[in-house]
Order: sequence, then C-alpha cells, then structure tokens
Amino acid sequence: MNTNDIIKKHDGAVMNTYARNPAAPISGGGASVTDADGNRLIDFGAGVGVNSLGFANGAWAEAVSEQAKKLQHTCNLYYNKPAADFAARLTGVTGYDKLFFANSGAEANECAIKLARKFSFDKFGKGRATIITLTGSFHGRTLCTLSATGQQSMHDWFFPFVEGFKHVPPNDPGALREAITPDVCAIMFEPIIGEGGVLELTRDYIDAIFELAGENGLLTIADEVQTGAGRTGKFLCMEHFGRHADITTMAKGIGGGLPIGICLAKGEAGETLTPGTHGTTFGGNPVVCAGASVVLDTILAPGFLGEVARKGNRIKSELQKMPKVKDISGKGLMIGVTLAETTDKISAGEAVSRALARGLMCLTAKDKLRFLPPLTVSEDEIAAGIEILREILG
Ligand SMILES: *Cc1c(COP(=O)(O)O)cnc(C)c1O
Repeated sequence: MNTNDIIKKHDGAVMNTYARNPAAPISGGGASVTDADGNRLIDFGAGVGVNSLGFANGAWAEAVSEQAKKLQHTCNLYYNKPAADFAARLTGVTGYDKLFFANSGAEANECAIKLARKFSFDKFGKGRATIITLTGSFHGRTLCTLSATGQQSMHDWFFPFVEGFKHVPPNDPGALREAITPDVCAIMFEPIIGEGGVLELTRDYIDAIFELAGENGLLTIADEVQTGAGRTGKFLCMEHFGRHADITTMAKGIGGGLPIGICLAKGEAGETLTPGTHGTTFGGNPVVCAGASVVLDTILAPGFLGEVARKGNRIKSELQKMPKVKDISGKGLMIGVTLAETTDKISAGEAVSRALARGLMCLTAKDKLRFLPPLTVSEDEIAAGIEILREILG
C-alpha cells in the first residue's frame, strides 16, 4: 500500500478530527523514518514530543517486547514490578512522594484536578473548588480538562462545561492576584505554554504564582505533559526556576511512544486520593512502565540533559540567521518560531507543508512553527533538518 492507499482507507473509516499531513511513516530509527512511498523523512516533531528517544529505540523496544512476552497487563487490583520500579525511581528523582498512573496527559490532569479539589475539601470543606488556569493554556480534550483549557476556540459546541475554572492572562501577576477569591483552591499552569504558542512564563510570574499560592493556601499544579521528561534541558522544566509545584503532571515524552500519564504529588497531597476515589483500568501497565524506565534511565544518564540544551541552542542559533524568522521562543528542544512579516511571508501551516515536501516533519503551535525533535536527535539529523529549513525560511 502506498501513501494514497493508506490515506483513502484511513479516511474512509476514521473520524475526521485532524487536519492530517499527507504522509504515512512506516519504520524508522533515530529521528529518521521511511514513509509508505519510500521517502526518507527527518523528524523534528517526535509525534508531538512523544518519541523522546526517537523511532524504535533499541533498548526501549527490547524492554517493551520482553515485557509483552512475559506479562502484558495485571490491572490495578494487583501489583506489578515494572510499575513499582518506575514509580520508585521517578518519585525519587523528581522529589515527589507519590504518583498516580494514568494513560494520557488529559487523564493525568484530571487526576490533578480531582486531587486538588479533594485536598481542599478535606482541609477547608465545601465551596473552595475553583482552579485558576491561564488564557491560551492547553490541558486536554476531556470535558473537564477542556474546561481548564483557556482557549475559547475549543469551547464551542460542547456546552455545558465543568464548573469551577477561571482563566487569567499569563505573565500578569496583578490579574492573578485579583482572581484569587475565597472559592479558589489551586493554580494550574504550563511552565511553557505549548499548544498555545510556545509561550514562556517569566521567572517573575512563576515567583508570583508560588508566593500567592503560599499566602492563600492554594496548591500549585505544574502541567509538564509537554515540558517534562528532559524536553527543555532539565528533567522538569520547573527546575529552571528553582521551584517545585505541589503537583506535577507528565505524559507525552516519558513513555517514549506508549500511552502514559502521571500525576505526581508531595506531602499530604500525595495521600489525598484513597481507595475508591480515583482509578483507571490501564494505568501502570507493565509494558508501558518497562519502556518508561528505559526512557528515564536514558534521560538521567550523565551528560544527556546538557546535550539536549546544547542541541536546542544549535538549532536556535541556525534559525536566528534565517531571514523569514522573526522571533524564537522555548527552552532546550522545545522551540517556537514566529515567522517574519516579509513580503513573501508564509504561514506556519505553509511552512510545515513545504518542509514535509522536502523531507522534514515539523509542527505548528497557534501561528508559530514549532519543533520538538527527539531528544536523541543526532548532529547529522540536525544538519539535514536545518538545511531544509534554510530552503523554506531563507
Ligand atoms: C498534549 C498535552 C496535554 C494532553 O495530553 P493528551 O495525552 O493528548 O491527553 C495536556 N497538557 C499539555 C501541556 C499538553 O501539551
């Protein structure tokens, strides 16, 4: 089957919820993949920041397939060693006490929201369930996380929404201070707003979040679904700011390509959810956790995160030289590009199409071009990707 055959078959049977690119990757290694027509593509998107070790990483694929051959699922009524190993290591390295396993970013955030509300209920009683989130944020597609998401364009059609969310403009401490009324229990934020345009929160604003949360007894929830797992050159993006949220959520890159969601909590917050208050059938799946342990070991190996930062800086410095690039945002290998208003200006969407036609997969984030290459992207793959970008943005 060539690409067109696959597209026809797929679109004949799958709901049309995505503006998909006309490519069907078949098999790959590193940040390179071959599509159904035999074209070689360089990947600067990593399946939206998921394939943190690239395509079909050897150690990861081995751990996953070995586990699948032994035991693929137990359900949460029993214990499993891969989940225990991974959870103990992840809580240890992130400084959290407990975690809950889910299967996606949205579910990790659902857990964080339920946890924050119950934590507040247990301590202060009813009427204190509102969670402040940021305008332009993205927290997921379930009804509750969509209610948390601060993007009006995603709020059409699906009324009524889950109550108890307030959106405030990012990087405006005054607006945050004003929004803290007696019904608020938590502040939830992405340290770098990802889907909403690779917008970095300032250090001053992050300081304000933590200071206001401290003064008002609010929980802080860092949504690190996109920024976590080494993406920004630190294991958690919040390490750049020397801050440790009460709750951190992870997903995307920590699984290396299999579905995972994690809600980490410290102290009392880690003891809030008790038997019967939350659950999931697949969470902590042994195959997924065996792979996630390989991702964790790889990212935490000495020197790895320094390489992520260095590679990010290399890509940024090359981008800076390109005439159609106006502005660059992001940290490490999470990079947003504002395109210049030149006479031959192209949109981010056009840039993605032109890049793909030349053999480079990349992403958009609102009106920006966005790159989230595998953290293991090689120097040669970076050079090949840059060469293609120079043709489009030169
Ligand atoms: C992708 C993303 C989510 C949603 O994750 P899913 O796995 O698609 O449910 C939530 N928050 C952030 C910051 C994300 O980037």
